Amino acid sequence: MTRPVLVIADLHLDPSRPAATRTFLRFLQEEAPQGEALYILGDLFEAWLGDDAVAADEPALQALRTAAEATELYIMRGNRDFLLGDGFAEATGATLLPDPSVATIHGERVLMMHGDSLCTDDPEYMAFRAQVRDPAWQAHFLALPLEERLEQARQARRASTERNQQLDDATMDVAADAVAGAVHEHDVRWLIHGHTHRPAVHELATPHGPGKRFVLGDWFEHGSVLRCRPEAWTLETLPHEG
Ligand code: MN
Repeated sequence: MTRPVLVIADLHLDPSRPAATRTFLRFLQEEAPQGEALYILGDLFEAWLGDDAVAADEPALQALRTAAEATELYIMRGNRDFLLGDGFAEATGATLLPDPSVATIHGERVLMMHGDSLCTDDPEYMAFRAQVRDPAWQAHFLALPLEERLEQARQARRASTERNQQLDDATMDVAADAVAGAVHEHDVRWLIHGHTHRPAVHELATPHGPGKRFVLGDWFEHGSVLRCRPEAWTLETLPHEG
């Protein structure tokens, strides 16, 4: 029997949202092992200040490691956890996926992205993204003492929250021409991404005929998972317990 492929993103795991962590741990234990593969497309963590900043016995890391023994585990970096590195991959048994990546699900080529690189109507963010993805910038940041990294992250978060309040809805969504360009460049009919926290399944016109753009939801109020079964790919929610 063909097993489902599971795709999630934007969990934003953080001590301030314990319900999301509980739902994720349950999902890893009960559902992930039934799947052929689990893809986590960015912002698994609310913040990631370096692989050295997190204890190896962190429950989420241990649960990922256990899951990776039962299923193929792929993790992409998001705009919050863009510093996930080889130490994290080693600790969890996950394969770090470049953004973008083309994966094959049940014989179909699928473009997977976090989604922030599609927000091209926001040039200021795109400039910030280019800066923090620069290996020299990252090496410099990771060499700072943890306290200093925490402080810089706090400042960046404050600035981004203030800025986002001034942006209109359309600017914060993906740009239609960026989506069309990515689909064309990678020659796919199917695109899966997160980042915008606007879960939906959009029709997509592609050179190969009609396709779909699946937008994963965040895990704030409940979990969100795209279950790709051979007969249908459906975007579903996972309730948080009590
Ligand atoms: Mn994001």
